[in-house]
Amino acid sequence: MGKPTITLKQRTTPVELPDPLGFGAHFTDHLYEARYEEGKGWFNHTIKPLEPLSLHPASSFMHYGQAIFEGLKAYRKGDDILLFRPDQNFERMNNSAARLCMPALDVAETVEHLKALVEIEKDWIPTNKGEALYIRPYMIGTEAALGVRPSKSYIFQIILSPVGAYYASGFAPVKILVEDEYVRAVRGGLGESKAAANYGGSMLAALKAKEKGFTQVLWLDAVERKYVEEVGTMNIFIRFNDEVATPALSGTILPGVTRRSVLKVLDDWKMNPVERKIPIDEVVERHTKGEVLEVFGAGTAAVISAVGELAYKDNRMTIGDGGVGELSQKLFDELTGVQYGEKPDPYGWVVKV
Ligand SMILES: *Cc1c(COP(=O)(O)O)cnc(C)c1O
Repeated sequence: MGKPTITLKQRTTPVELPDPLGFGAHFTDHLYEARYEEGKGWFNHTIKPLEPLSLHPASSFMHYGQAIFEGLKAYRKGDDILLFRPDQNFERMNNSAARLCMPALDVAETVEHLKALVEIEKDWIPTNKGEALYIRPYMIGTEAALGVRPSKSYIFQIILSPVGAYYASGFAPVKILVEDEYVRAVRGGLGESKAAANYGGSMLAALKAKEKGFTQVLWLDAVERKYVEEVGTMNIFIRFNDEVATPALSGTILPGVTRRSVLKVLDDWKMNPVERKIPIDEVVERHTKGEVLEVFGAGTAAVISAVGELAYKDNRMTIGDGGVGELSQKLFDELTGVQYGEKPDPYGWVVKV
C-alpha cells in the first residue's frame, strides 16, 4: 500500500483553537490530496499545507456538476483519536462516484491516508465532549473542456474542520416542516448519492421553512408527495407505539451511516426497527390517536436530533411533550458514548488512528 508524500509546514506556534468553534467555519492548516488522470489512475497522494485551489475556468465540475462529498468525524479520548466507521463513508463515496461517472477510490488505502492526515492535525481536535474534528472528503471533475461528458481528470481532497458541540446549550428538539411543494430526489436520480447538486437544489425549501420558524424540511417522495423520505442532512425515524420505522432505501434517500448504526442498535434493544414506506397521512392519523411517540433524525453532524414539532399543511403536531423523547436520548447517549470511546463497541465500529 502506498504512503502519501508528506510536505509539512513547520508549525512555529502551537495550534490555538478558535472560540467559539461553530460548525464548518474554521479549517486546520493541512489537507490531503490525490489527483486522477484517465489512463493513469490516482497519483500524487499528498498531505500538504492547505492552500487555495487553482483551476481552469472550464473545469467540468463547475459547469456540469461532477462534484461529490462525504462527511464524518474524528473524536478525541485522552491520547486516542477515534474515527467512526470511516470505511462506510468511502464505500458510499465510491457509490456516488459510480453514479456520476467519476473514478473509484481504494477504500482501505484512503482510510489509511485519512488516518495519516488526522494524526498530523491531531492538535486541532477539540477535547470537550460534543466537540470533534469534522472530516470533509470531496471529489471534483477538473478537465478543462466544455462538452457534456465525464471529465478525464479529477481532484480528491480531504479538509478538516474543528467543530463545536452541535447542541451547545443542551440536547434540544427541532421543529420540522413537511415540504409539500418542492422535492429533493426522484427514483433513478441522484438521491442516494452525496452529490453537491442535491444540496443546491434543497436550499430554497430550507430557506422558506426557516422564514416560517422551522429548523429544516422533511421531504416527501417526488412522485406522489405521499411518503416520508428524509430531512436535509439526516435520515428520519418515527417511533410508533408498536415499532420504530424509517423509510426503506428506494434510491431516493441517502443511506446514512448513522441510520444504519441506529437500526442495528434498535435491533439489539428489541425495539422492532422496521424499514418500510411511511405515508405522511399515517403519521398524521396515528398522531391523533396518540400512537406517534417520538420522531428523530439521524446523521453525522447532530448524531440524533429529536423532533419536537412536525407541521404538515395545516396540521401542527407536537411530538410527545415537545421535548426530547426517551428513546432519542438513549440512542444519542449510546452512539456518542461509542464514538467517544466511553462505551463498549461490540461491532468494532470505532477505528483508532
Ligand atoms: C449525509 C446525509 C445524511 C446522513 O448520513 P450520515 O452518514 O449518517 O452522516 C442523511 N441525509 C442526507 C441527505 C445526507 O446528505
